[in-house]
Amino acid sequence: MSELRSVIEAFRSEEVSRLPDARVEEDFGELQAAVEALEAERLRRLAEIDRRRSFERDGYLSAAAWLAGRFRVAWNDARRGVALARGLDRMPRVRRAFHDGAISLSAVRVLGEAQQAEPEGFQVSERFLTDAASRHSIGDLRRVVVHWRHVVERERSGAEGLDAALRARRRLHTSVTLDGMVRLDGDLDPETGETVLTAMRAVLDAETRTEHAPDDRAPAQRRADALGEVCRRWLDRTDRPEVAGERPHLTVTVPVEALAGIGTSDAPQRAGDRGGAPSLDHVGPIDAATMHRLACDASVTRVVLGPRSEPLDVGRRTAVVPPALRRAVVVRDRRCRFPGCDRPPPWCDAHHVAHWVDGGATSVDNLVLLCRRHHRLTHERFALEMTDGRPVFRRPDGSILDDGPDRAPP
Ligand SMILES: [Zn+2]
Ligand SMILES: [Zn+2]
Repeated sequence: MSELRSVIEAFRSEEVSRLPDARVEEDFGELQAAVEALEAERLRRLAEIDRRRSFERDGYLSAAAWLAGRFRVAWNDARRGVALARGLDRMPRVRRAFHDGAISLSAVRVLGEAQQAEPEGFQVSERFLTDAASRHSIGDLRRVVVHWRHVVERERSGAEGLDAALRARRRLHTSVTLDGMVRLDGDLDPETGETVLTAMRAVLDAETRTEHAPDDRAPAQRRADALGEVCRRWLDRTDRPEVAGERPHLTVTVPVEALAGIGTSDAPQRAGDRGGAPSLDHVGPIDAATMHRLACDASVTRVVLGPRSEPLDVGRRTAVVPPALRRAVVVRDRRCRFPGCDRPPPWCDAHHVAHWVDGGATSVDNLVLLCRRHHRLTHERFALEMTDGRPVFRRPDGSILDDGPDRAPP
């Protein structure tokens, strides 16, 4: 084993930046092959350890727990590693091909998942699948495996059973990442998937029809926005079920201390300094600018924090713009009031011209209907004031955005 270490040491002492292209690539190829060969050996020993359960001596309940605890491997990786090590024991052909370097670790992972899903079918098809793994790219191998699984499932259970089998595989994972994004990952059965795609398509098509300005969003960004819009519309419905006496909606929790002077530009630091950042129920802390925009038209819970940021008093969550007031604004504005936009009320928020955190009133003459995208733009870039009861938008340079006379509501 110390030989292995001295080989690594030899590689380490090399001044990579001075080597010619061919040498660097050659070295890389050799290391890539070595890493996979070592991984094959690592998994072989992991399977042996899993069989012997030697980790029980130290109180670990499973090989995955041992991997995670002893070597600080992430839980998911540990579980997957043990599953693959066990799987290789049941895939002799795959194991041989892997050990010979004929198929890559990535291919072995794809085949391992197939084996776990269809252990009996896999035994019959192992030769065919191993052969496919040695000839195809990983993307093509995945397609081969998906097709193979359909065939196996249909043979086992008929066309009706295939539907049930697909449905049994449905799953959706959601998680909040460290930087406050929300990650979605899942597989939807055909019917649910079609429903989701149809709803998103409807939002995208309606957007295209009401689009007057070029859209600078990438397709993936548009889809993300569309999914949000579908959910938002559902939350906006008044006939959906109550939970614990209220209909959950986007709620911004705002430490009262962070509210003082939040409209000024040094607000983000100030909120952070006090350790009481505004937050959303599920994704956690948000910056002051985001809080400013969301708190314009959402539910808000005010929290009074003590000296060490512990909440002393938590207020009731209240909708900033009550439904009756919103209806009055909708009756008056009838559409997004941003110049050139005519998105109807369901796409819109009620925007405070003078923000309530700066003392602006939540009343009809201080509220303007803005679609979600123009609401964001207005908070980010445009100045808005009411002149003779009409909203006037100014560009950052102070010039006025012209609202054509035919567009003004009566
Ligand atoms: Zn607003
Ligand atoms: Zn608009």
